[in-house]
Amino acid sequence: MNNQFNIVLLGAPGSGKGTQAPKIMEKYGLFHISTGDMFRKEIASQSPIGLKAKGIIERGELCPDDVTLDMLNSFLSKLGECKGYILDGVPRTIEQAHMMDGINYDKPVSISKVIYIKIEEEEIIKRILKRAAELGRTDDTPEVAKNRTAQYFKLTHPLIEYYQKQGKLIEINGMQTIDEVFADICKALDK
Ligand code: AMP
Repeated sequence: MNNQFNIVLLGAPGSGKGTQAPKIMEKYGLFHISTGDMFRKEIASQSPIGLKAKGIIERGELCPDDVTLDMLNSFLSKLGECKGYILDGVPRTIEQAHMMDGINYDKPVSISKVIYIKIEEEEIIKRILKRAAELGRTDDTPEVAKNRTAQYFKLTHPLIEYYQKQGKLIEINGMQTIDEVFADICKALDK
């Protein structure tokens, strides 16, 4: 398991993480793991985690760090052998990054590279609302979109510097077509 190549996809809501992840998965044979998808499944099945997460997600806030990391680790422990995975949407706070680095948490998750898909701030709400029309997510309304963006800048954005300091950060220009963004990601990963 130690030779795994694990990638984190980092970026604002609407930056294209969920679009790029399946493409990376297919090309590099990595498993796609989305904590947002996990929470949505928990909500659909009305599990205890789902009942806790529903209101939080609908308000555009973040679920508690320990609940998120325990859910992620429970999933990883059932995954078995694989070349590695793409973590889409986790970590989302410095505390989660610390936990994944094994700081005050006994189930570290190794991270090889962090791909930060950078988009312009004005583009974020535009893209979330476009997705709302396409997918009908309940956390994509204008008010919630605003809250999710605020949470992103307050809690998730500091991860860029965190991983830069660890020498793991790859910055990708997200203000391009889907294919161009993917090509840049591949170029960086193939280096
Ligand atoms: P996403 O599909 O990644 O945009 O996630 C949808 C929602 O799930 C987020 O707005 C959060 O409420 C919750 N969520 C997903 N991943 C995390 C995480 N790593 N930490 C806390 N909350 C999360």
